[in-house]
Parts: sequence; C-alpha cells; structure tokens
Amino acid sequence: MKKPDIVILGAGYGGIMTAVKLQKMLNMNEAVITLVNKYDYHYQTTWLHENAAGTLHHDRTRIPIKDVVNLDRVNFVMDTVISIKPDKKKIKLENGELYYDILVIGLGFETATFGIPGLKENAFTIENINSARLIRDHLEYNFAMYQHEDEKNPGRLNIVVGGGGITGVEYLGELANRIPELCEEYDIYKTMVRIINIEGESAVLPGFDPQLTEYAMSSLESRGVEFITGGIVKECKPDCIVYEKEGKETAIPTYTTVWTGGVRANSIVEESGFEHNHGKIEVRPDLRAPGYDDVFAIGDCALIMDGKTNIPYPSTAQIAVQQSETAAHNIKALVQGTEELGEFKPSLLGTVASLGNSDAIGDIFNNRKLFGWKAVIMKKIIDNRYLLKLGGFSLLMRKGKFNIFY
Ligand SMILES: Cc1cc2nc3c(=O)[nH]c(=O)nc-3n(C[C@H](O)[C@H](O)[C@H](O)COP(=O)(O)OP(=O)(O)OC[C@H]3O[C@@H](n4cnc5c(N)ncnc54)[C@H](O)[C@@H]3O)c2cc1C
Repeated sequence: MKKPDIVILGAGYGGIMTAVKLQKMLNMNEAVITLVNKYDYHYQTTWLHENAAGTLHHDRTRIPIKDVVNLDRVNFVMDTVISIKPDKKKIKLENGELYYDILVIGLGFETATFGIPGLKENAFTIENINSARLIRDHLEYNFAMYQHEDEKNPGRLNIVVGGGGITGVEYLGELANRIPELCEEYDIYKTMVRIINIEGESAVLPGFDPQLTEYAMSSLESRGVEFITGGIVKECKPDCIVYEKEGKETAIPTYTTVWTGGVRANSIVEESGFEHNHGKIEVRPDLRAPGYDDVFAIGDCALIMDGKTNIPYPSTAQIAVQQSETAAHNIKALVQGTEELGEFKPSLLGTVASLGNSDAIGDIFNNRKLFGWKAVIMKKIIDNRYLLKLGGFSLLMRKGKFNIFY
C-alpha cells in the first residue's frame, strides 16, 4: 500500500515543531513527510526586532533546518509556495509541484498596511531575517550619511515606529539601547536623534493592563522615546511620515519608518480558496480546515475562537507551538487509524514584552504582573524553553539567552 504523503508548508514555530514531532511519532514505513520552506533555516520571529535594531546578530536568531530536523526521516524542500489547490491536493511551488494526502499550512503572517498610501513602498517591516537585516543596515547608513552630507539633514536621525502593539514596543526598547551605541560610533550627539512612536489608541500595548502600559511608556520615555498617541498614520513618503491628530495633519521628516501596525495571515491562504475569516482559516477544534478533512492550518494562518469570550485567540508563537502538538497527534491518528482526533485546548501562560535588554513587562499565569528584572528573566526562560523543546540541550547551549543583564 502507498505510504501517505504528509506535506508541511512553512518551517516557522508551528511548521517546524510539527515536523520534529512527526519524525518521532511515525516510523519510516508509515508515511513520507515533506517540509517546505523558503529558506534553509528556521528563524525565531519573536527575536527579529533585536536583529532589526542591531542589538542581536541574526545568526543567533536563525537555526539551520538540518540541525533540528532529521533529514533521513523528513524530505526538506527549499522553495517558495505559490498556491495551494485543495481540490486537487496539490501545491504549486516556484520550482515545481507537490502532491499531498495530508497537508499542514504553517505559512505564518504578512504585514497589513490597510491601504495607507505609501506604507507598502516606503516603510520597513519586521517580517523575516532579510527585512530585519535591511532595517539594521539602513539605520547605520542614515547615521553615516548624516555625517557625510555637507548640508545636515535632521530627517536622517529621526526614526519613526508606526504602531504601538507588542512588536512596536519591543522594537522601541531595542532602539533605545542601540541608538547610544550608534551615536558613539558616528560622532553624533544623542539629543539630535529622535525615536518616535505613532499609535492610534490613547496608549500603547492595547489589551495590556494599564499599569503595565504605563510602566512600559515611562521606561521607554526615560530613554528618549517620544510617544504620539491618538495619532493616525495618513501617508508614508520616502522622506517623511504624515499623521493626523485631533484633526490636524503633521509631517515628520524621516527616512526610516518601521511599520509594526498590523499583520494578517499569509495571503496564500485566502488566494487558495479556503473558507476564511479575515484571511485566516477558521479551523475546526481538531485544527482541520472546514470542508477539508486532509488539511490542517496552524499558527498565524489559523483562527480559533475562545469559547468563553467569543474573541479569537491571539496570533502568537506560544499558540503556534501548542497547535503543532495537536496537529501532530491528529496526523498520527489519521495515518494509523487507531485513535480519535483530539481537540486543540490552548494553555495560555501569558505574555511578556521586552523593553530593551534590561527591562520588560509581563502578564502571566492569570493576571500576575511582572515588571523589570523579573520580567526580563521570564522572557529569557520562555525563549530558552522553546529552544530546548525544538532542539534539545545542544541547541539551547548554542542559541540560548543566558546573560540576564547583558
Ligand atoms: C518582532 C515580533 C515579535 C513578536 N513577539 C512575540 C512574543 O513575544 N510572543 C509571541 O508569542 N509571539 C510574538 N510574535 C508573534 C509570533 O512571532 C507569531 O505569532 C509566530 O511567528 C507565528 O508562527 P507561525 O508558525 O504561524 O509562522 P512563522 O513563525 O511566521 O513562520 C512562517 C514560516 O513560513 C515560511 N514561509 C512564508 N511564506 C512562505 C512561502 N510562500 N513559501 C515557503 N515558505 C514560506 C517562512 O519563511 C517561515 O519560516 C512576534 C512577532 C514579531 C514580528
């Protein structure tokens, strides 16, 4: 009998963990497992803001796929997924085509620009290693250009972060640490550099406890970050950003706008004809797509409602990893036909947001608030725990974060 073809799209948190689990749960004779990813490495998306500021080298963030996936057990295909044809059980890749019996969609997120003029063309986004590296180099280029040009252009030293969600705030924290180093390197007074955040709500970190938000804002303000709250980004041009506040439009000269104001599921999901809710597949409790018993969606491509609040669970790495466990269990059940499919039951441990390398805030274990060094330690425990789960002790020792205060 032909072995079923299991194809996993994307080697992010959800996809790579599904592959790592399946390679242990199924033996060689039971199924052919194929993992498809754009790059030959997995990257920790939750560390990219550090790479984009230049506070952590991107080689710490990326992990070669061969280091954690057993390539004798899993076929790795480095290619770009173009589309999924669920009715034909086929995947179109940039360089070929794949057939599947069971599919896992873990293609992650892409930035949402909400049609704001010029954002797509002129703003930077923190999405992957390449985009993070580009921002880091662009920051340095502008500091160097400021000194190089005869006519001084203050816009080169204005850095604008659009959006004050967790990604925006974590990036501001890294910038607040990095800018003093850049100033020293390029002989620029610190007071000449502006780090500005524009957020539409009345405070950053919407959804967080107000005490945590207040702590985060004053920590960042004490290190020179300016907040424009209640400001709506109207347009992004190559040399400025325009926002509206209280009916008045203002332009800030800048060559560096980093947009962190929204994400959506990878648009391949919507374009492939799956039933979707705001671009995500609203999966059944066993994580399968409506109408397709052979397609699982996980991570940022999947949407699951919290039955208690009737609000979708957040798109987080934590959820993506937990979903990989349910998906792997259910795929094994389908292949072996011995067990019932299980339901995804998230265990929400809370959120910790870094504010640079020596400060953080957290809301963990049902409203336990953490500030400062305790939150910094918790963040590192979360990061290190993931590495241990993914690649065991040796990966933890190679990539782990052990220096609490840098
Ligand atoms: C800067 C930042 C900080 C964050 N901080 C936190 C945090 O502190 N805690 C938290 O829980 N969450 C955080 N998040 C959110 C979290 O990173 C995402 O929810 C998580 O990465 C989703 O995992 P995933 O498996 O769905 O996709 P991802 O981890 O994004 O992986 C998607 C994979 O698919 C691949 N891929 C994409 N398109 C294609 C294609 N066409 N063909 C082939 N391969 C493709 C990509 O290369 C990637 O490997 C943060 C996000 C960002 C950007």
